[in-house]
Amino acid sequence: MANKSKFQAIRGTRDLLPPDTALWNRVEQTAHELFTTYGFGEIRPPIFEPTDLFARAVGGDTDIVGKEMYTFPDHNLRDLEAALYPICNPAIDLDDPKDLMALVADLRVFLEQFAVHQKQDEVPKTSENASAVARLHTLAEKIDSLRLAAEDMDLMSWHALFQEVSAAAKEIRLGDMVSLRPEATASVCRAYIEHNMQQLPQPVKLYYMGPMFRRERPQKGRYRQFYQIGAEILGGPDAPAIDAELIEMLMTFFDKCGLQGTELSINSIGHAADNCRRGYVAKLREELLKVKDKLGADSQRRIETNPLRVLDSKLEHEQPIIATLPRIADHLCDECRAHYAAVKHNLDLRGVAYRENWRLVRGLDYYMRTTFEITAQGLGSQNAVCGGGRYDGLVELLGGPPTKGIGFAIGEDRLILSLQEGGKMLAARGPDVLIAWMGQNAYATAIRAAKTLRNAGFRVELPATELKFGKALERASKLGSRFALILGDNEIQSGEWTLKNLATSEQQKLSEQALLEYLRG
Ligand code: AMP
Repeated sequence: MANKSKFQAIRGTRDLLPPDTALWNRVEQTAHELFTTYGFGEIRPPIFEPTDLFARAVGGDTDIVGKEMYTFPDHNLRDLEAALYPICNPAIDLDDPKDLMALVADLRVFLEQFAVHQKQDEVPKTSENASAVARLHTLAEKIDSLRLAAEDMDLMSWHALFQEVSAAAKEIRLGDMVSLRPEATASVCRAYIEHNMQQLPQPVKLYYMGPMFRRERPQKGRYRQFYQIGAEILGGPDAPAIDAELIEMLMTFFDKCGLQGTELSINSIGHAADNCRRGYVAKLREELLKVKDKLGADSQRRIETNPLRVLDSKLEHEQPIIATLPRIADHLCDECRAHYAAVKHNLDLRGVAYRENWRLVRGLDYYMRTTFEITAQGLGSQNAVCGGGRYDGLVELLGGPPTKGIGFAIGEDRLILSLQEGGKMLAARGPDVLIAWMGQNAYATAIRAAKTLRNAGFRVELPATELKFGKALERASKLGSRFALILGDNEIQSGEWTLKNLATSEQQKLSEQALLEYLRG
């Protein structure tokens, strides 16, 4: 029977292992080097931030914020948490007066403890907490007084009262709500404001890489912890060349990585004004309502919540309907239309090939004007490796000065997957040299030789225990070592070391200095 390991990586997360990690590193190195040549500097924001930051930036109505964030209250008040639990979840036998008394007792204990922690500034002093605590005090009084005349109350009234207690208790936050970041644009904008980056020469160009967290249904190319490489340009003039240069950098990056079958789609979704996107959305909603019956449940719901997202639909039977819908390009205001035309002209100037896709609306609330997406081969249905767009209002929405912004996020997992599907594997690299040492005399020399060779940049395997000659060679070939350096009594006495080429089985004698030169050659 298979020996089941007790712990496994959490669903939707995974270990990245060698040799794959070598490819990850190469991709990341390519980003560091290329982005630097375009004037970008790296930012490393924290992995968790106040929940409100993402709610505000990404949008409360989005799936990301509504369903997918890993969110928790940030506190260490286990006693208070334990005291709060039975009040949030009262397990009461309504016929048993002792249970009622127990609940009131629990409630009083919690309120007392809460007051102590509040005095010590350990719980958030929010208006929500204040009003929930006030309600709980009132309810405790009420239950206390009613309890005396319990026989006069019907079960339903008691039940309603407990529900009130539970509802008020659930409003209480023992710590500030924080979330694992589902994306990093909000963090970069927060940092731009927090560090007064508007004082720096504009625009400010920042890139980041690292893990993001979304509680999505895991499948190929979709994980709950996944990695993004992203870049943002904040501030500066209203220049379509900025959009085009960012996209040029992105396509150059994919090219340098060796990604195959990339396709760049672009669109403009205008800006939020009646003579632009708002007008278009109203028109779209009107047309969608006419065909509502023919649409699936998701699209029907989106007619009300976010009609643009209907254009994202992949449902087969909706495609012919969507094809007849009005297109945003015909409803852009003059400025947005001119901006879009200039972005395309600037892409042409840079020799960047693109396809226009009027249905590309992007899922997040903060986008405006330019949106773009890149797909690559070998990824099945999750074939988008990068999404991006302009978000001029976001910094201001987060409390900063009016600031232009545009950025992208590359899904690194998918990028790697596509590279691997395209045969861009990095072979596992064995050591350059395994040092087969025999005897304590040779061991001291072997340690020194390993240090010298490693200093010179060679990958060296120094067995930790003495191996018989045959075993050492066997280990060397198993590891895929190019050479075995043989150090026994003879070699130590003569100062002439034996180097065996494991591919050709040729052997030669070399002095320490000559060995280094030979390997370098
Ligand atoms: P978004 O931040 O949603 O615009 O996504 C940008 C890119 O991140 C997408 O094009 C994907 O390549 C990647 N991505 C988004 N969500 C996931 C996920 N759950 N797992 C893997 N990659 C993802």
